[in-house]
Amino acid sequence: MVKAVVGANWGDEGKGKITDTLADQADVVIRFQGGANAGHTIVNQYGKFALHTMPSGVFHKNIMNIIGNGVAFDIEKFMKELDDITSRGVPMPQIMVSNRVQVLMPYHTLFDTLEEARLAGKSFGSTKSGIAPFYSDKYAKIGWQINEFFQDDEVLREKIARIADIKDVLLVHLYHTDPIDREKLLDWIKTQRERVKPYIGDAALYLEQAIRDDRTILLEGQLGTMKDPDHGIYPMVTSSSPLAAYGAIGAGIPPYEIRQIVVVSKAYSSAVGAGEFVSEIFDEEAALLRDHGGDGGEYGATTGRPRRVGWYDCVASRYGCRLQGCTDVALTVLDALGYLDEIPVCTAYELDGKTITEFPVTKDLARCKPVLKVFKGWKCDIRGIKEFEKLPQEAQDYVNFIEQQIGYPITMVSNGPARDDIIIRKSLLK
Ligand code: GDP
Ligand code: MG
Repeated sequence: MVKAVVGANWGDEGKGKITDTLADQADVVIRFQGGANAGHTIVNQYGKFALHTMPSGVFHKNIMNIIGNGVAFDIEKFMKELDDITSRGVPMPQIMVSNRVQVLMPYHTLFDTLEEARLAGKSFGSTKSGIAPFYSDKYAKIGWQINEFFQDDEVLREKIARIADIKDVLLVHLYHTDPIDREKLLDWIKTQRERVKPYIGDAALYLEQAIRDDRTILLEGQLGTMKDPDHGIYPMVTSSSPLAAYGAIGAGIPPYEIRQIVVVSKAYSSAVGAGEFVSEIFDEEAALLRDHGGDGGEYGATTGRPRRVGWYDCVASRYGCRLQGCTDVALTVLDALGYLDEIPVCTAYELDGKTITEFPVTKDLARCKPVLKVFKGWKCDIRGIKEFEKLPQEAQDYVNFIEQQIGYPITMVSNGPARDDIIIRKSLLK
């Protein structure tokens, strides 16, 4: 059976933690899109880890971890992360990198950095990991599938020249910097291919057999619906689809095999980078939520930059769950709200004097104001509680209300960062 773990919102909903928890019963974990721009935080018996390219199953030695063809594969970060986890006592995980994955090249990162600098204040809030230039090249058909690295020098030189002819125009004339060093790039390719060679395999074929053998396969998404290039807050989105449907493409499996879609949504909102965020809060109120949030505050797992925060947004989350094709909601980081006397929830938007409950297109989103309903806080630490009915009544009311509003079953409530801080709950939806 194939399950997907994906985000309802802007990312950082706690997907890494939920995947790590569900990985206990999984045989295979796959990353199907995105690159090293987003991070998952995982807390387990080995310590606290920020994973950027590795699938979250790497801490379970019986799990096969796959980098799917849909990923922007950053070889250097991959190798560094592998070294990091093994040097901290995690046994060498089973890893397979799809032979069709495309490689994030050094010039992708360079272009990202140069473009952010050029746009200055009008930037898209990129993490400068090269993701947008990477996907542009992939679809412009000047990308590099990893299998292409294993060709003769002359073939490689020819392709490098073809790409550099295009890139150099921008490098020299738009960014006023040096052209690509072609021989250096060739050496880089030859060095990197030796490093990753042991991990490369036919991932789609492996998955076909795994499905036949009825093994449990987890598709691990990055970011969330709001960052989808089609359905999100374009253009403040990411460059590959974080929707569960894309899991079929980015892993190479039939779409009808995805039977369970666990959509992760945090009990309040956070976002990184620019873009519309209707329920955002500011100043002292935000600083308090940011510091109480997540595990040690809402700061980027990749960048360390403070995340923007706000109240739970039922409008965005309902839309986010719908586009994911949600079968189960995992509501995370509920424990972090224990400090609040009152907890506002955004139940609708006010747009040009009208109240709306459907998520609008980006151009209208900018004019939306949140309509808030205020809940009584529970004012205590709820970590360690294992049953929903043992939560303070106020916390139960909060979860039940959100479930009613979004209209998808909340079957998991996460009340702490660790793997077993999880409450399995029966949905009240009819
Ligand atoms: P992801 O990108 O969706 O995997 O999320 P991140 O890992 O970037 O951000 C989620 C943060 O919340 C991390 O610091 C997690 O350790 C933390 N976290 C996840 N679930 C819980 C929870 O239930 N309670 C608390 N306090 N922290 C959590
Ligand atoms: Mg994250």
